[in-house]
Amino acid sequence: MVKNIATARNDFPILNQQINGEPLTYLDNAATTQKPQVVIDALTHYYETDNANIHRGVYTLAERATEAYEGVRQQVANFINAQTDEVIFTRGTTTSLNWVALGFARQLLQPNDEIIITVMEHHSNLVPWQQVALQTGAKLRYIEIDEHGELDLTQYGELLNPKTKFVAFTHVSNVLGTINPVKQMTKMAHDVGAYVVIDGAQAVGHFSVDMTDLDCDFYAFSGHKVYGPTGIGVLYGKRELLAEMNPVEFGGEMINLVERQTTDFKPAPAKFEAGTMPIAQAIGLGAALDYLTSLGWSAIEEHEQSLVTAAYQQLNKIDGLTIYGPAAGPTRSALITFNLNGVHPHDVATVLDTQGVAVRAGHHCAQPLMQTLGVSATTRASFGLYNNLADVERLIAALVETKEFFQV
Ligand code: PMP
Repeated sequence: MVKNIATARNDFPILNQQINGEPLTYLDNAATTQKPQVVIDALTHYYETDNANIHRGVYTLAERATEAYEGVRQQVANFINAQTDEVIFTRGTTTSLNWVALGFARQLLQPNDEIIITVMEHHSNLVPWQQVALQTGAKLRYIEIDEHGELDLTQYGELLNPKTKFVAFTHVSNVLGTINPVKQMTKMAHDVGAYVVIDGAQAVGHFSVDMTDLDCDFYAFSGHKVYGPTGIGVLYGKRELLAEMNPVEFGGEMINLVERQTTDFKPAPAKFEAGTMPIAQAIGLGAALDYLTSLGWSAIEEHEQSLVTAAYQQLNKIDGLTIYGPAAGPTRSALITFNLNGVHPHDVATVLDTQGVAVRAGHHCAQPLMQTLGVSATTRASFGLYNNLADVERLIAALVETKEFFQV
């Protein structure tokens, strides 16, 4: 059934409340999204009717739980246009990226090999590469940004060379909102024989992503940022690379045979999913993906673009407010980071909260980017499919009030 984006807000019970006597204006979707009733119902239904541990049981309930869990794997594969055995369930983007760095890259990297990342990475796609570089003697190189907050592709081209073994970058910056030209960047990396790892945490849920079209080697995202539960994430990897990749965690369920001194592992994806997985959360993720599909990508994208454009235009008119990243348009996703000159971002967020407006303030787990921008922190408003123009108006009104409060 096709649902209407204009009424989607009603599907999210949490939004129907007051905070500090004002309607909740939730603008921290880049940190985590709220859950539609269908996701909450899927979790409840699973625990009320199907709960059992998966794979190992031969009884009906266990078979039902296994079918539901494995059904979501198939669903994720369709959602990102991949093969079912190329989808690994993880705890989230952070785990997915760590598994690639520690289970795949670490065994391939030699001293003086090069890893390229970007200066706009979230720590989740930065620290694992830094650690792997330290452990292997590989060198970590950075793609810089230009004055619009977009990646400098000329400099990227100059960094690439036959020693480049891995290129890892975010699809969408969680600070600048920049949508990176990931397909072009993947092709450039492949031309020098490097593997490509993409952090899709801020992309999935906002527009469709297609693994076959992108041709990247690994892609990571989190369930909780796509209207699904916390505790579940996805790592996509090309089948032949997952066959070479080592698990980082070991335990039950991922083995064919354990002998006293050696173990024979199952093929992917089971090889990576040690122990009891977040079964209910996977099922909740499945419900979230169904929900997104029922709204349709063009409706979601159009709606979020209209919000970010309106917010950008109005924020731009506020005297003494600096916006970071590209202008609203095809290279800006549904979030805007800014600073009100003379007011600490934490103070901005605190005053906004008194108006019921939830935004994030801080370094957004991107300290090297903060250093590049020459700031220690920023305020970020990030939109989701249930936000509307009234939310934008409330953000702007609260910011004007904040300015008056601090007399800047
Ligand atoms: N990468 C980016 C770009 C993010 O925005 C985030 C979440 N803030 C992450 C990675 C980490 O995601 P998670 O905390 O769900 O593992």
